[in-house]
Amino acid sequence: MRLYNTLSRTIEDFTPQSPPKVSLYACGPTVYDYTHIGHLRKFVMDDVLVRVLKHAGYQVKFVRNITDVGHLSSDGDTGEDKLEKGAKKYNKSVWEIAKEFEDYFNKSVEAMGNLAPEVSCKATDHIESQIALVIELEKKGHTYIIENDGVYFDTSTLSDYGKLNPQSLDELQEGERIGVVEGKRNPTDFALWKFERPGENRAMFWPSPWAERSFPGWAIECSAMSMEYLGEQIDIHTGGIDHIPVHHTNEIAQSEAATGKVPFVHYWVHHNFLRVDGEKMSKSLENFYTIDDIVKKGFNPRALRLLFMGSQYRDELNFTWDSLRAVQKSYDRLEKLVASWGSETVSELSPKAEKLRKNFFSALEDDLKTPQATATLWEMVKSDLSNVEKLTLFREFDSILQLGFEQKNEKPEKKAIPEEIERMLTERATAREMKDWQRADELRNEILMAGYKVEDVALGTQTVEQID
Ligand code: AMP
Ligand code: ZN
Repeated sequence: MRLYNTLSRTIEDFTPQSPPKVSLYACGPTVYDYTHIGHLRKFVMDDVLVRVLKHAGYQVKFVRNITDVGHLSSDGDTGEDKLEKGAKKYNKSVWEIAKEFEDYFNKSVEAMGNLAPEVSCKATDHIESQIALVIELEKKGHTYIIENDGVYFDTSTLSDYGKLNPQSLDELQEGERIGVVEGKRNPTDFALWKFERPGENRAMFWPSPWAERSFPGWAIECSAMSMEYLGEQIDIHTGGIDHIPVHHTNEIAQSEAATGKVPFVHYWVHHNFLRVDGEKMSKSLENFYTIDDIVKKGFNPRALRLLFMGSQYRDELNFTWDSLRAVQKSYDRLEKLVASWGSETVSELSPKAEKLRKNFFSALEDDLKTPQATATLWEMVKSDLSNVEKLTLFREFDSILQLGFEQKNEKPEKKAIPEEIERMLTERATAREMKDWQRADELRNEILMAGYKVEDVALGTQTVEQID
């Protein structure tokens, strides 16, 4: 396996610390708004990485976080907490927002065929370990306090701060962080822990040794949780390229300063963006599409997954509906072909089939070259191999591709309940609440006539099932 490592800026042979075990941490979503297909590209490519490692025989422990506090709208430790911003936008509590968008994220990545991580951890469930990490850094002399603001990391205490960033430190210092926070000793210093500002009246706060009402800085959660679940040094850490200059640079600084162990992460893997009309698809630009938009327009989420496979994770990808339309056509054609290959497979492949198999997986093991792997898929489809061999190869390729054809054949998707039935069900629930049993029974019959069977279960809820 070979991977491009942002830290060395070269493609390296991948050697985990204790093979066959691999520890992998992926930066997860900030759950203040809908997950969009830009995020999904990143999370699908994480899934491809995990599946390729597993296919190559590694035992992967995959940890992904959920950021539900502390991610401020600027990278420079100023601006509003994104969760509080989301709560205002949707007129809900921060906790409701976090739960709703975490669920939406999970639903979206599941629809894309991703494996669930071994651990999915939330920042707000790990406040204690984040505080402990800040205390450790304080003890070791890496911090200072800015009154009414927060505990800051003094980046001049490290000789190699910023080593992940290909930009020079000078450029960084001229960037948006310069002079934003009054009292910073160095422009690159960053908040480990923030205090509620006078009059701010935050919805999320915790007591800490530094202030009664305070909350974590954004990077501290990833250091604390990755170390808690994967140890002080981890094999692979992934994130979008936007995380390189600040979030990951600061994770490295605070983790290595706290443990004294270098490197905190052996391989840094960074995903490039999905763009739309040349701009990064993002929540703040409001130019995003969700998985529901994809489905509503009649596309299969797995066709989108196939579209993602068409470009390598390190390249930008410009999303257009035309390109999705084209991939959906190939997807449908492939689905029919696979169904025509029957259900028989073989345990030994001919040299020709073996070569295709090797080409497919060596492309993936070479820094996840998904376009080359997909090209091999089409080469296999067009080849004169027997159907039995084609199906054998397809099944193994699909352990990574996850096109979901056969799964669909096994369990047909349940159709959504039509709106009219939903309306009658709501009316019936109200009738039952009012103890109007006669109306409830009438509605049960009407629903039955429309082809749905309704049953009453405990606590006044009802279940409904379409009659075959
Ligand atoms: P966020 O919820 O903004 O913290 O983003 C979660 C992850 O998705 C991060 O690793 C981002 O870098 C990544 N991400 C956000 N927008 C895009 C995009 N348009 N294309 C690819 N990855 C993205
Ligand atoms: Zn992170």
